[in-house]
Amino acid sequence: MQVTFYGVRGSIPTPGKDFVRYGGNTACVHVALQDGTDIVLDAGTGIRQLGNQLIGKSSPVHLLLTHNHWDHIQGFPFFAPIYQPEREIIITPGQTSLPEHDQILRQMQGSVFPVPSSALKSNITFNVLPDTTESWQLGDAMLSRLPMNHPGKGSAYSITADGAKVVYMTDNELYPPYKKDTDFLSFVEFARDADLIIHDAQYMLSDMPGKSGWGHSVAEEAVKLAMACNAKSVALYSHDPERTDDDIDAVVAHCQTYIEAAESSVNLLASAEGLQLSL
Ligand SMILES: [Zn+2]
Repeated sequence: MQVTFYGVRGSIPTPGKDFVRYGGNTACVHVALQDGTDIVLDAGTGIRQLGNQLIGKSSPVHLLLTHNHWDHIQGFPFFAPIYQPEREIIITPGQTSLPEHDQILRQMQGSVFPVPSSALKSNITFNVLPDTTESWQLGDAMLSRLPMNHPGKGSAYSITADGAKVVYMTDNELYPPYKKDTDFLSFVEFARDADLIIHDAQYMLSDMPGKSGWGHSVAEEAVKLAMACNAKSVALYSHDPERTDDDIDAVVAHCQTYIEAAESSVNLLASAEGLQLSL
């Protein structure tokens, strides 16, 4: 299994010289399986570059959406495979509180975008699973999902294949002030023994309580989750748009002190555009 980051930024893209090393595109991660299956996590602006890679193939694209906030769907109209005739695009929507499964297509209509979704030549279908569905098979992979704590809700995903497990949890507030959909121990169970957890770390404890309830986690708690579930690696994700490259370096250094204090062996990194991990 190969995991490649195409967009790591939360909320809004951040071009500019202070954001070059970690990247400014919004949420998108590509998971390539050994059997050739392409799984795409979220369709933020990072998906444009991924599309330029995938257009060289003709096999189906499996897009898993956490939710429909703009920074998770905005890149879809610029994802080249959707313009390929007969290309199979299978979209699994997130478990959002409003049942708007095709919202990603409805951003391509009216005065909002010049090409209506009805003009797309690809074969786009929605894999709308019953709310009770927790796990399902895709090629050689076993997929699982879990509701997240976020305004409007959403889904976390786990992908187990090729002898590895990757868990993708964004946007997720581990300790929200509102009623939780999932508690910390359930997240621990979901991500147990993962080779890699990609978790929302948009804020830090020092940002609180001002941003409590905004639907994102603090980096320190994302690291605690990784340690609690015995993960091999944790990638801090959904970087705050105000956080420069140097700021992110400081977040990692700060969180590393938690790992050392706990005498944990978890490998800590900050998600970065172009970073590729083989699991
Ligand atoms: Zn969101």
